[in-house]
Amino acid sequence: MRNQQATKLIFELSRPGRRAACLPELEPMVANAGTALGQEYLAEDDLPLPELAEPDVVRHFTNLSTLNMSVDSHFYPLGSCTMKYNPKRNERLAGLPGLIDVHPLQPSESIQGLLSVLHGLQSMLGEISGLPAVSLQPAAGAHGELTALMVAAAYFRDLGQQRPVVLTADSAHGTNPASAVMAGFQTKTVLSNSDGLVDMDDLLAKLDQRTAVFMLTNPNTLGLFDHQICQITQAVHDVGGLVYLDGANMNAILGISRPGDFGADLMHFNPHKTFSGPHGGGGPGAGPICVRDFLEPYLPTPAIVLNPDTKQYEFQSDRPLSIGRVRSFFGNTGVLLRAYCYIRTHGPEGLRRVSEDAVLSANYLLSKVKHFLHIPHGDRCMHEFVASAAGLKKQHGISAMDLAKRILDFGFHAPTVYFPLVVDEAVMIEPTETESKDTLDAFAAALFRITEEDQELLHDAPHSTRISRPDDVAAARKPQLRWISAEDPMER
Ligand SMILES: *Cc1c(COP(=O)(O)O)cnc(C)c1O
Repeated sequence: MRNQQATKLIFELSRPGRRAACLPELEPMVANAGTALGQEYLAEDDLPLPELAEPDVVRHFTNLSTLNMSVDSHFYPLGSCTMKYNPKRNERLAGLPGLIDVHPLQPSESIQGLLSVLHGLQSMLGEISGLPAVSLQPAAGAHGELTALMVAAAYFRDLGQQRPVVLTADSAHGTNPASAVMAGFQTKTVLSNSDGLVDMDDLLAKLDQRTAVFMLTNPNTLGLFDHQICQITQAVHDVGGLVYLDGANMNAILGISRPGDFGADLMHFNPHKTFSGPHGGGGPGAGPICVRDFLEPYLPTPAIVLNPDTKQYEFQSDRPLSIGRVRSFFGNTGVLLRAYCYIRTHGPEGLRRVSEDAVLSANYLLSKVKHFLHIPHGDRCMHEFVASAAGLKKQHGISAMDLAKRILDFGFHAPTVYFPLVVDEAVMIEPTETESKDTLDAFAAALFRITEEDQELLHDAPHSTRISRPDDVAAARKPQLRWISAEDPMER
């Protein structure tokens, strides 16, 4: 465990009486707030808060911020998760006082500006997707999947149809079958063919009157656009089912093709991926959904609508068929505001250019990587591609995990590995549109160098990070979720 520097918790750095700021004595009225609140609401003891001087606090958090990589410090070729650069302009615009200093319980007349932005975002997402009815409420991509499946379930219930089955592709993100089960469906898996696309025979064999929804990702997680898409959506519609498009991969097709045009009925966007919202460490995200007109009555309420008579934006709750609320207030507004800024900054031409450049970057990298890593599916890709380290492992004992760990020593974040499951020793790479040719060249060169390195050096890589190789099996099986320390003031 070289270079491993124990980082103390802020509680362990605490010393009684140390202060970062000295506040003036409370005025009597404030000091008496406790009596106004009622004695039973007062804490009996002082809260066990850490006590530190300002420089200690600053150093503590600055040091913590360097323990991991970030998009602002390193290239992130993380397949399936569109980890793109977060333009600082969006941060500034989304932080304008008129947008962040509002209270969610304010009457709608007093937040017309914010509502017009959210309403504008709904219209733009409807336009980009080709699916005009939009709800911004879901809090993440997976939550969007769940919400849309609940909408589909409500629709079939209303039609009086028993459709208990959701089909998912075998290359799908794990959230697809998980969302289907949470929404009360049974799942069946549709296999991929040898080209990495939907196996039409398998799909046709599994489609019937019991099918509610086929969930698919297009372009799929192998970075391939399924050219059979219109036959697929037609086949699902022929049995009365709906098509759900997992829209996490929209970065490849913005302004080029619209899910509504190729037959999808429902989809979600991942604004924290496609529209550059920052989303390190698991959040926050958003998962707006777009559906066809005939599904609009089932969308979550309250909906944000423009009253044509008063020209005021309002919340509409009287939708008797609605599945109801899926999140408090109107969704993760901060993420939605960044998405609005991103889309408006680029405009229609610019958005198309984003996707063209993302696809170009990925193909450029693919054309370099294919000389030393096998690419099982496709000569060309969309926004990402999946290589396999299976041959390298067999010949030189270098696994996908070794590659991923060692690349950290070269100053790059690791690509996604072992996903999708349909590729052995998968290494999934998505460079995104903002990376320069120099960065892509340097990344390909580093990957190539690793394939030539001694396997002993690789097995305990990385060598330059604070923590080398944590035992990830133990971390999953016996997680220690709480810090236990002799000095822990919380223990006392
Ligand atoms: C990221 C992703 C999801 C889930 O989105 P979250 O916002 O992480 O819940 C679903 N499908 C695909 C293909 C993804 O890449």
